Amino acid sequence: AVEAYSAANPESQALHERASQVMPGGNTRTVLYYTPFPLTMVSGSGCRLEDADGHTYVDFLGEFTAGLYGHSDPLIAEAIAKAVANGVNLGSHGPQEAAFAEAIKDRFPSMELLRFTNSGTEANMLALALAKHATGRGKVMVFEGAYHGGTLTFPASEVPVNVPHEYVFSRFNEIEATRQAIRETGSDLACVIVEPMMGSGGCIPGDPAFLQMLREETEAAGALLVFDEVMTSRLSPGGLQSELGIRPDLTTLGKYIGGGMSFGAFGGRAEVMSNFDPSKTGSLPHAGTFNNNVLTMAAGLAGLTKRLTPAAVHDLNARGDSLRRRINAVLAGAGAGIIVTGIGSLMNIHPMRTEPKRPADLAGADQRMRDLIFFDLLEDGFYTARRGLLALSLPIGDAECDALVAAVARRAPRWAAFLG
Ligand code: PMP
Repeated sequence: AVEAYSAANPESQALHERASQVMPGGNTRTVLYYTPFPLTMVSGSGCRLEDADGHTYVDFLGEFTAGLYGHSDPLIAEAIAKAVANGVNLGSHGPQEAAFAEAIKDRFPSMELLRFTNSGTEANMLALALAKHATGRGKVMVFEGAYHGGTLTFPASEVPVNVPHEYVFSRFNEIEATRQAIRETGSDLACVIVEPMMGSGGCIPGDPAFLQMLREETEAAGALLVFDEVMTSRLSPGGLQSELGIRPDLTTLGKYIGGGMSFGAFGGRAEVMSNFDPSKTGSLPHAGTFNNNVLTMAAGLAGLTKRLTPAAVHDLNARGDSLRRRINAVLAGAGAGIIVTGIGSLMNIHPMRTEPKRPADLAGADQRMRDLIFFDLLEDGFYTARRGLLALSLPIGDAECDALVAAVARRAPRWAAFLG
């Protein structure tokens, strides 16, 4: 599969070699890297992508969930064009910022007050700093295998680029061990940060009882519960927190909510967020030239208010649930030893016989098998992430889902044979 890939993509290869002269490994975004070289996409429209060698793909990656609206959604494109025509660097508050914040608060009522950032990473960094400041405590509980951004990445231990907090590691979905760890950390614990479904970690849903325990134990310990809903906010109109009936103290957002522009936000209990109120003495600083950039404000507002109605959220997730069920049925029928996890419009293909419940379970997955699935699907015209992530966008319809299910059905016997 890899030889065929190299032969079919000389232009992407040449672009990668050129990029490697000026960026380490030709890369400025680690997640995009894979051997022998990553594809360069030159354009996108709706749910289609075209690469540098002229191949077209159905975009089932959806920019790692930030591309929920698809490429060049006309309403969002119009909002951006208007913003550009109106002047992009005003150096002041803009006309749409408060309206956008209101639209977000309407959807996620636990975000009583919120602030914008440029990325999900920044949103999480600020939420953790705020939790420490608000509680006057130093320790931050994270889960092994979690990903909360480029400087908050937790394979199983600390990583040199991470923000150097005093981390307490626990294991996702392990209720008793985590309860114990929270109690032991007690009055040193500032917060627990968790994704209600591990997204980058392989689309592994949090057990509702586990998440409920986090709510109860953090409250009892006087620590804050931070829900990283950068990915999961799309899984219901009010995010996964509304589905679960859990109100976190702080929530972080990112990805699609900026309408495809650079975006992040953090917010939560008014009393906690008020630490950022600059009219108060001793308030926390949070500057950032592009926090309220007019392109994000315009695109995000148009997306949330004109395109992503609660009904659209339901439809998108129903389509995802149906697609995942159909693919799993085909894979099980072929005895392929592959399973698709996830919720609604987010899913991950895993070369495993049983569903992973925690990140450690993924250790058993064969990377060569992941590669085979990825390159086979590319050859068939489906763009996904090499690690197996799929994120549906609004322009994806029945025809695209049917085509993907058919491709999986054609390939499944080969995958079954590869695993042996
Ligand atoms: N949190 C989660 C759960 C994420 O999936 C990501 C991005 N993959 C981030 C935070 C970081 O967001 P950004 O890439 O915008 O910095």
